[in-house]
Amino acid sequence: MWDLSLRGIDAVLVEQRELAYGTTGRCHGLLHSGGRYVVRDGDVARECYQENQILRRVAAGAIEETGGLFVHLKGDDPDYIMRWTDAAKSAGLPFEEIDLREAYRLEPLLSRDARRAFWVPDAAVDPFDLVMMNVQGAVECGAKVLTCTRVEKLLVEGQRVRGAVLKDMESGEVYSINAEVVINAAGPWAGQVAATAGVHLDLAYGKGTLLIFSQRLSNHVLNRLRPPGDGDILVPAKTVSLLGTTDLAVPTPENPEPTGEEVSSLLDLGEELAPGLASRRIVRAFAGVRPLYNPGEEAGRQASRGFAVIDHERLHGISNLYSVVGGKLTTYRLMAEQVVDIVAAKLGVSDQCRTKDVCLPSLTAAPTSSTKGAPICECELLDKNTLLQAAHHLDRFTPGAFLRSTRLAHGPCQGTTCIYRSALFLYQEKLLSYEGCQEFIKGTLSSRWQGIRHVLQGDQARQLELARGIYLQNLQLGDSKNGL
Ligand SMILES: Cc1cc2nc3c(=O)[nH]c(=O)nc-3n(C[C@H](O)[C@H](O)[C@H](O)COP(=O)(O)OP(=O)(O)OC[C@H]3O[C@@H](n4cnc5c(N)ncnc54)[C@H](O)[C@@H]3O)c2cc1C
Repeated sequence: MWDLSLRGIDAVLVEQRELAYGTTGRCHGLLHSGGRYVVRDGDVARECYQENQILRRVAAGAIEETGGLFVHLKGDDPDYIMRWTDAAKSAGLPFEEIDLREAYRLEPLLSRDARRAFWVPDAAVDPFDLVMMNVQGAVECGAKVLTCTRVEKLLVEGQRVRGAVLKDMESGEVYSINAEVVINAAGPWAGQVAATAGVHLDLAYGKGTLLIFSQRLSNHVLNRLRPPGDGDILVPAKTVSLLGTTDLAVPTPENPEPTGEEVSSLLDLGEELAPGLASRRIVRAFAGVRPLYNPGEEAGRQASRGFAVIDHERLHGISNLYSVVGGKLTTYRLMAEQVVDIVAAKLGVSDQCRTKDVCLPSLTAAPTSSTKGAPICECELLDKNTLLQAAHHLDRFTPGAFLRSTRLAHGPCQGTTCIYRSALFLYQEKLLSYEGCQEFIKGTLSSRWQGIRHVLQGDQARQLELARGIYLQNLQLGDSKNGL
């Protein structure tokens, strides 16, 4: 939408839930340097590195320049080191071997079984901020966003798509919009959207589970220097750390759930990289589904992380419909550039892509008030002003929208105190009704508890009992329908 808007093309973004509801909001948040893919897929690695460099410039507000280390541990295949360094050289990826003493100084938790360590330009990216910045930029150029609105079906007339039937997921209203062109960027749901126009898109779904630790455990992104596998990346992200991931073929993109086996296996693997990790406090587990486009192949580590832009007129005889599928968060800008190049040509727009050069806007603040600096959440230093600023950007005040656009309920207490405080504040500000306030508390809690129940042990179990006491007994909000 940002790319379309910069070329002066009117655009409407339709999102069935909240912004970043899909895979983007459930990823590891690693801005890849390309190091992970360089041995198996030099093209994907080069794309990642090129985009990594561009995004540091144009999306700096969403990126933390942590750097990354690829670490070879005792027992890992020693031949892989040379394959990796050779491939990185030929792909032009910068890397530098660092002395192990220096590696331990930089990363005190790193396993003493480390044998070699290489620095790479990995970084951490906040997917929520990145999405909000793109949307804000586009909206400032006149684009429109419809959240909580689902594409029920594409409108096809003869052999051409001319719009879509939409459903407002809150009111239930169904209506149509016309469009000269439709870009299907529905991630793992892209096959379902295409199917409504009678088009078959051969997507595979790879579920990945991640664990969030309550602390920042490393300074750099830590990667295992071995063929990509499970549990081999630890990403520091603001106040927390994310360990992942797994890769399991699943039949559908809906409601991916972490399993107990995945959690235990991630912890075992994480222990190898950073001993003691398994005894650290885990605040939640979550899962996302990779949209993998590699016709005829199954999901899994072997499936390509490349992306495809599909002109359905050329492939299926249905005009005005384009799909953009596969890829990585790191390559999202390039994916947009390639699909919009084709769409612009179709619409007779000659403007070139400018997203490489134009910086995304930082998330502008709504007018603040000194009386609203009071904290809502001490864990994540979220104050009332920040909540108001988030509300300023949202068209719907759903729990998911606040969870994705602020650090609300992201800390170790997972909302024990900040959820009722924020609900009360939003009510006082007349942003939520009394009933809306109750729904907000229930929705936010049930989404947090969904992630905690996979890691219920130690302090996190005690924390959940405290939250249950407050919400289910004192506030009497328990209700089997919302899973509380
Ligand atoms: C566990 C995991 C970890 C990952 N880690 C990384 C990483 O560290 N770095 C990296 O670069 N990449 C990572 N990836 C890959 C990356 O997250 C994805 O490739 C990318 O986010 C996909 O973005 P997308 O926009 O194509 O899909 P999505 O983010 O899923 O967006 C599609 C959107 O379409 C909406 N939608 C679907 N159907 C409809 C409909 N009918 N009507 C309206 N809206 C609809 C969905 O709600 C969704 O929000 C990871 C993936 C997974 C699963």
